[in-house]
Amino acid sequence: MAEGRIIKALSGFYYVKTDEGLIVQCRGRGVFRNQKITPLVGDLVVFEYDDPNEGYIMEIKNRSNELIRPPISNITQAIIVTSAKAPDFNHSLLDRFLVLIESMDIKPVIFITKMDLVSLEERKEIESYQEAYEKIGYSVELLSKKDKPSFEELKNYFKDHITVIAGQSGVGKSSILNMLDSNLDLKTGEISESLGRGKHTTRHVELIEIHGGLVADTPGFSSLDLETLEADELSYCFPEFRNRMQGCKFRGCMHVKEPKCAVKAAVSDKEIASFRYDNYQRFLEEIMLRKPRY
Ligand code: GDP
Ligand code: ZN
Repeated sequence: MAEGRIIKALSGFYYVKTDEGLIVQCRGRGVFRNQKITPLVGDLVVFEYDDPNEGYIMEIKNRSNELIRPPISNITQAIIVTSAKAPDFNHSLLDRFLVLIESMDIKPVIFITKMDLVSLEERKEIESYQEAYEKIGYSVELLSKKDKPSFEELKNYFKDHITVIAGQSGVGKSSILNMLDSNLDLKTGEISESLGRGKHTTRHVELIEIHGGLVADTPGFSSLDLETLEADELSYCFPEFRNRMQGCKFRGCMHVKEPKCAVKAAVSDKEIASFRYDNYQRFLEEIMLRKPRY
């Protein structure tokens, strides 16, 4: 018996990589098939093989999480790529990605691309957002394709992580991966939404090795509705609310109309950025307006 991680799934085969770097082509077999569990890219598995072209997955280790699109498990980090320009920077969209990622207990990192396209004044504005997000505790990198050294520093983000890249199409996700690893040569737009067209086409998913970590070659969090989130979970997805909420007078405070709310007090004191609070309110309304499910 050997252990390894599934790094690719294709046509009923799972490609399992061991710590020693051996890749074994496996089929599923074993008890998990009775439990209606299908192996996923990202899974840690126990497998047996005599020949590297003929292995059998016998057991799937417990997953820390799993994403539906793309189907990947055990993700530890999500890099949200958002552009400063073309398309314009949008904090509301960024916060939506952050909420979804936080709700899965995945560590978010923010990359803001296309900094070469902004004016001096716009740069100042982006930098003030950078400061606001860093104050919350997020890492924020400002990047430009024209400034290669800025990409060198990104290498440290990947080590020992399973990373999913998230972001609208056209923000520069493929470009970043190409800059990080010249062997990749992804066509720009290659990891963009266009690949996901048609619900029934089985999409090829693969984890590629970059700087001591694994990165999904398909972007994640393509569905941005907050449908799986309950209203009382939302404030936990805002880290700067999370550590202040115990100061609210009412248990179950939603931080909207309640008196003596520690979150609202922090907004008035400018401890919490008002744009973040506005986005919170907007998302809360969206969740509350959702029809109850029976
Ligand atoms: P994806 O859809 O998120 O993978 O985005 P791509 O990597 O395909 O990039 C979309 C377009 O933006 C391409 O034409 C890229 O050349 C361009 N682009 C990406 N990053 C930058 C950047 O830092 N500066 C500029 N000016 N253009 C960029
Ligand atoms: Zn409150």
